[in-house]
Amino acid sequence: MIQDQLSRPLHDLRISVIDRCNFRCPYCMPGEQFHHAYQFLDKDQWLSFDEITRCARIFVALGVKKLRLTGGEPLLRPDMDVLVRQLAAIEGVEDLALTTNGSMLTQWAPRLKQAGLKRLTVSLDSLDPAVFKQLSGDRGKVEDVLAGIKAAGAAGFKRIKINAVVQRGVNDHAIMDLVRYFRGTGHVLRFIEYMDVGNQNHWKYKNVVPSRDIIRTIEAVYPLEYMGGTEGGDTNERYRFKDGQGEIGFISSVSHAFCGTCNRLRLSAEGKMYTCLFATHGTDLKEHLRSGTTDDFLAHLIRVTWMKREDRYSELRSQLRQSPQHLPKVEMYHIGG
Ligand code: SAM
Ligand code: SF4
Ligand code: SF4
Repeated sequence: MIQDQLSRPLHDLRISVIDRCNFRCPYCMPGEQFHHAYQFLDKDQWLSFDEITRCARIFVALGVKKLRLTGGEPLLRPDMDVLVRQLAAIEGVEDLALTTNGSMLTQWAPRLKQAGLKRLTVSLDSLDPAVFKQLSGDRGKVEDVLAGIKAAGAAGFKRIKINAVVQRGVNDHAIMDLVRYFRGTGHVLRFIEYMDVGNQNHWKYKNVVPSRDIIRTIEAVYPLEYMGGTEGGDTNERYRFKDGQGEIGFISSVSHAFCGTCNRLRLSAEGKMYTCLFATHGTDLKEHLRSGTTDDFLAHLIRVTWMKREDRYSELRSQLRQSPQHLPKVEMYHIGG
């Protein structure tokens, strides 16, 4: 097991397979910046499935137990089931998950399940068709995502995580609609505090709705019981409905930073490793993968990168944002959530 400067082990690897997306969520890829002429990566700049699998194998040998596929929108990458099958076959992978906007899940869910995908997370910020449309940058339909979740359930995915990013004045008025819809379904709704990821979303602290306010709103209708927090490297504070109608979670990256237990590394679609969601620089693996480097050297590079890590952006957010040296951050769609 390798540890970073703050004694955090390397446990999770998030693999972004593509930087493109069919949505333009304003908090991630605002349409004004990501227009039709925007230059995304060329396909030959993406790590190939074999390159991703080779990296994953090395990460797993270094202690990684959990892989998550993300993007951009991962289901835009052709033949994702092929990659899932390759990763599922790696010995030592205890968990293999994928995060998606759900718009293409109806066609993909059965193939992903058959290929060995263990868990699914679907992003869904509102059930209101007009709000959903706005939050997808006028690209998505809420009924497609709901149909995708149903199809995934029918394909055998249990306890699907439904992630909703809450922004004040945008979708906070309708959180109870989401709660009512998913209570009792066996799926786990999780509310995420709006974060200052990337450099394009004009984030303001006043637009964050702290989890404690959301919990209060829910508890006024459905009493909750605390189940556990972020101790084991989980980002999620878990609650259960006291009436037995399932579980609900809260990811409080702004109001209650969990950097102390953050054990995840991110690999971008173009093969750069990032040790924090808010990092400025990544460490390139692709150049080495494509120049005949040995697995031992790649393992050495990963080990050194992790051992030097001292990131804790969320804990230092206000200080870092006010600093005159406030550096540009990697964009969310490059490295996934
Ligand atoms: N396209 C896929 C999706 O939307 O699920 C995967 C990639 S997306 C970047 C991963 C997650 O990041 C999504 O759940 C999304 O809601 C979340 N996200 C993006 N921008 C965010 C922000 N500014 N604050 C909080 N979460 C954000
Ligand atoms: Fe696309 Fe996901 Fe970003 Fe929305 S959050 S723009 S769906 S990558
Ligand atoms: Fe991990 Fe960086 Fe997020 Fe802290 S800010 S929890 S170190 S990704």
